[in-house]
Amino acid sequence: MSVIDVERACVEFDGDHVLENIDLRIEAGEFVALLGPNGSGKSTLVRAILGLQPLEHGRVRLFDEPLGRFSDWSRIALVPQRLPGTNSIPVSVWETVTSGRITPRSRFKRVGKEAKAAAQLALTEVGLWPRRHDRLETLSGGQQRRVLIARALATSADLLVMDEPTAGIDAENLTHLVHLLGELHKQGVTVLVVTHELTDIEHLVTRAIVLGEDRTGTIRYDGPPPVPASFADAVHHHDDHPHDQSAAPTGLTPR
Ligand code: ADP
Ligand code: MG
Repeated sequence: MSVIDVERACVEFDGDHVLENIDLRIEAGEFVALLGPNGSGKSTLVRAILGLQPLEHGRVRLFDEPLGRFSDWSRIALVPQRLPGTNSIPVSVWETVTSGRITPRSRFKRVGKEAKAAAQLALTEVGLWPRRHDRLETLSGGQQRRVLIARALATSADLLVMDEPTAGIDAENLTHLVHLLGELHKQGVTVLVVTHELTDIEHLVTRAIVLGEDRTGTIRYDGPPPVPASFADAVHHHDDHPHDQSAAPTGLTPR
């Protein structure tokens, strides 16, 4: 079964092709790393896959259903690259993690026992259980990202999509996150991770996809890791981290 099926996807911003004829099919159980330099369209592709970015042309299917008809969003967990409007809405760490489980049916119900247990476990796994009553914006950028990761972990989704989850995360938490991703993958979760840090997850990755240089918006490499040296330039790049200036990832480290 295909979890993600993108056909000839095009996205333009102000006439520039950010994605051009992207064909991408991801099967259940894959662990895919999406790589490429800044501005190559990684976040745009992820957003397009999830219906957050309209396409100029092309089609997206999720779990073998056209995007427009797909409605089972509880099957998908997203860790976005940037927190949307962290400072505008006062929200606690606990509320953020439990909100990942909200479905239209349960929106006005209190958080159930099972959801609470999942949220507690997830917060413990990312080391932020003691901070659960704190307001989200009082946490550092790296901690906020861990909250989003916990939120995704608590959903029990079949597809986990993470846009640079390791940015701004210290070595200890990174090791822990990589372990968690491995466990989820073993349990059958399909994983799509946008990253500059292939080194840390390379042993888990079944397939690496490298997007092209600025504005070409095409796939340059699609295959098992390691990424051939001729494409490594596209991977060895730092991103800007608006929420955390510390602990910039180091990109591909030579072996
Ligand atoms: P990446 O995640 O690979 O760094 P993005 O998908 O964020 O790249 O961006 C790809 C290109 O599209 C960049 O040139 C970026 O400036 C542009 N872009 C992204 N989002 C928008 C937007 N909402 N409006 C206009 N341009 C955008
Ligand atoms: Mg991005």
